[in-house]
Amino acid sequence: MRLSIALLSIAVLLTPTAATAHAVEPPPPAVRDFGNGPERNEEAAGVSAETLRAPTEEPYGYSHERDRGYPRQNQLPIPGENPADASIKLGLVPYHGIAPRLNDLQRRSKRVSAEIIGRSYQGRDLYLVTVTAPESREEAREQSRLRDRIQHDPAAAARDRGLPRKYKAPLFVNNNIHGNEWEGTDAALRVIEELATSTDPEVADLLSRTRLYFNVTANPDGRVNGVRVNGAGFDLNRDFVTASQSEVRAMRQVMIDTQPVTMIDLHGYVNGTLIEPTTPPHGANYEYDLFIRNTYANGLGMEAAIKALGHTPEADGVYPPQIPFRDSDEGWDDWPPIFAPQYAPFHGAVAAHTVEIPLRVNGSDYINLPVDELRRRSGINTAIAAAAIRATYGFVRARHDQLIADQIEVFRRGAAGEPSRTVPLGIVPGFGSEDVYNTTFPRAYVIPAGGGQRSATAAARLVDHLIANDVEVGQAKRSFRANGRTYLAGSYVVDMRQPKRGLANVMLEAGTDISPRVDAMYDISGWSHALLWGATVDGVTSLQAQAEPVKAAAPTGSVPKGHGPLALKVIDAKEVMALNALLAQGVAVTWANDGTAIIPATARQAAHTVSDRYGVAFTPAGTAAGTPRGIAAGAPAGTPVGAPSGTPTGTLAGTATGTPLSQVRIAAATSADELFTLRELGFPVTPISTATLNSGFDWSGTDVLFVSSGLSYTALNPTAKAALDTFLASGGVVTRGSTGAAFNTAAGLLTATSVAGRGDANGVARVVSSTGPVGSGSPGYSFVYSPRWFTGLGPEVTVEQAYATEGPLVSGHWRPNPNGTGGQEAAKGQAAVVSGRDERGAAVVLFGTEPMFRNHPKGLFPQVARALYWSASVTGAAVTTP
Ligand SMILES: [Zn+2]
Repeated sequence: MRLSIALLSIAVLLTPTAATAHAVEPPPPAVRDFGNGPERNEEAAGVSAETLRAPTEEPYGYSHERDRGYPRQNQLPIPGENPADASIKLGLVPYHGIAPRLNDLQRRSKRVSAEIIGRSYQGRDLYLVTVTAPESREEAREQSRLRDRIQHDPAAAARDRGLPRKYKAPLFVNNNIHGNEWEGTDAALRVIEELATSTDPEVADLLSRTRLYFNVTANPDGRVNGVRVNGAGFDLNRDFVTASQSEVRAMRQVMIDTQPVTMIDLHGYVNGTLIEPTTPPHGANYEYDLFIRNTYANGLGMEAAIKALGHTPEADGVYPPQIPFRDSDEGWDDWPPIFAPQYAPFHGAVAAHTVEIPLRVNGSDYINLPVDELRRRSGINTAIAAAAIRATYGFVRARHDQLIADQIEVFRRGAAGEPSRTVPLGIVPGFGSEDVYNTTFPRAYVIPAGGGQRSATAAARLVDHLIANDVEVGQAKRSFRANGRTYLAGSYVVDMRQPKRGLANVMLEAGTDISPRVDAMYDISGWSHALLWGATVDGVTSLQAQAEPVKAAAPTGSVPKGHGPLALKVIDAKEVMALNALLAQGVAVTWANDGTAIIPATARQAAHTVSDRYGVAFTPAGTAAGTPRGIAAGAPAGTPVGAPSGTPTGTLAGTATGTPLSQVRIAAATSADELFTLRELGFPVTPISTATLNSGFDWSGTDVLFVSSGLSYTALNPTAKAALDTFLASGGVVTRGSTGAAFNTAAGLLTATSVAGRGDANGVARVVSSTGPVGSGSPGYSFVYSPRWFTGLGPEVTVEQAYATEGPLVSGHWRPNPNGTGGQEAAKGQAAVVSGRDERGAAVVLFGTEPMFRNHPKGLFPQVARALYWSASVTGAAVTTP
């Protein structure tokens, strides 16, 4: 079926909610719920975010050491009993009940090992259970050697015909990544117990030839709280290219360390049970011929196992399973590697599935249905999830040697640098030209050192991110030439002849504008660490560099010798963090609207500390200010489109003049991901909403109001409106998106008409920046989701950034609305970010782009910071020097 994102709300209404189940109703269309998508414009992080605990650094107790056999049993600490755990109402295991059960199983069986692999945002332990036949230390070592060989010497592994017989096939079962899709956890515990205690010789055979890894609950915060997201408000199943959350970093590490040949990710709720493989478009960086054969085969196996349970619409309201690849045309794709099963293939999974179990127990059903009905549903869901797990381990047992051989082939093609393969039509029934997606791999990516690099700090972050994803990165010991230019010694090289080249490419390629090929996409369609993370990255077609592998990026922080004041150009998120750290200490910073902070000579020691901590480079004030380091080199589209305005003190132009700046305190009506990012950048943020303002809010501690979600000016009561109007005479305002634009209009701030692009449009867009206080120093690309632009600008309004007249979409999906409006054509050359002073005094910046989306586009965060510094400094909101 065809689905568009505009239809989502209708689809949700179609979901059966009747307590008198069992009635024969048509199954609802297959849709995935959004997480941190367009609904971010309505649902503010709000008050709940104030109660969040600070992020905890996860301890890594995870032991894939070579020198231990199996079992590797650990007495898991038992969390305090929580009677409010949302699982209890459903008759499912509460989070605090998991560790006792695993401890008990470890006591009862030598087949079960439980480990803590990290912590959730709110500090709960994450459990990995390994189920396998006991192994001696030598056997475990041999398994590690074979795994290394498969990844790092795949050509030799492919020649070793005996290898698959000697190697235990790893299978990864991921559960409960959406906290209010509970039953995967319960099914996993059931299957672990069965396998641990079974006397069936087939189980003994299975466990002698496989290792089964269970992430018992990937999202314990959400499980306890009864919500989709983790404690930070993030949809973890959208975070795999960014890995902003500790839970995702733990899953990533499991995939790297265990190298599963197959993985399933248990979700809910779609009736009938939905089983991947998916509709097109298919990610172009997978070895899709290997992937689709295995994924489809296991999908059919899971379908048969679920059908064998005998549920029917008439008997219990359960519809037969559906497989989007076979049963739908569009709308459930495997294009972006933001989902767990779309990320695992890059670490060698040749079958990977989202499985959506059928009967809804969350949302309004959780609140409204009788407990008996909820438990009836959760019981059926658990049985179906368990059947999916059993079918999958049966599949791994049956195809053991072939799955291992196929994984070896994935890595072999990567290491050999073979071109992207065109999958033959009909490789599985129904595989047609609409399913064929290819890419072109460059010979290497170079992340330049020296003047060719837009930001050495951003380059270091990107290198560390690639390494954390198990991508091999080298550093050139001498200068070299490629694509007709010279790269200095110290440049980083990502050689695309490597086993995980698919993962390297999916992060570093610009991506594709797939608008012409499909109408409906499930989630984001564009992303690019090369274009959005602030560093210069070049794809090159030849490579003669001598590069030595690195385990981490080289340090980038520096402070020039001498005794004078220092300048810090704020073009990267790390520079924002460093500046905010200095402001938090009360350093008397001067802010110039070209985006440079001047640090007095008296704060040189503090500058040394933050330089070291954040890897930022200070320059002597008076020389570097006004000449940003290599801006032009990394940003091809850097032509000014408007003159700066509202800069009462002028720019620095080589002298330490500007506006005094102290810490910028923010009141934010914003989505959870933006709140997370603002706090990560070091801004003190108080979450607000319409409700908090209506119940009385003291504006005296606020310098800038940020509005993107959950605040309606027209819904404020007269007292709240009056208090806000008083603030607007002297404060700053930064807004984003539809909620922000509506606030601007209702509050009578800037003269600008906000125009909406198509609501589901998203991706990487070419932009052209001005030399204004926000645009100055911006990259030539931005990220959009439900893009907007501004027309009918008043004389007080400056264009900080505009959509390019070429494109503007580089990669992603952006079609016009059916009536022809809202497309790329309409956006060409239009203002995407504007600034200006309201006649009452407020300094206002409006974003039509998405510079903090899901914490991903790290190279765009400084635009938001510059907007905040500018609006605070020119209004005098944050000038009181402590
Ligand atoms: Zn889900």
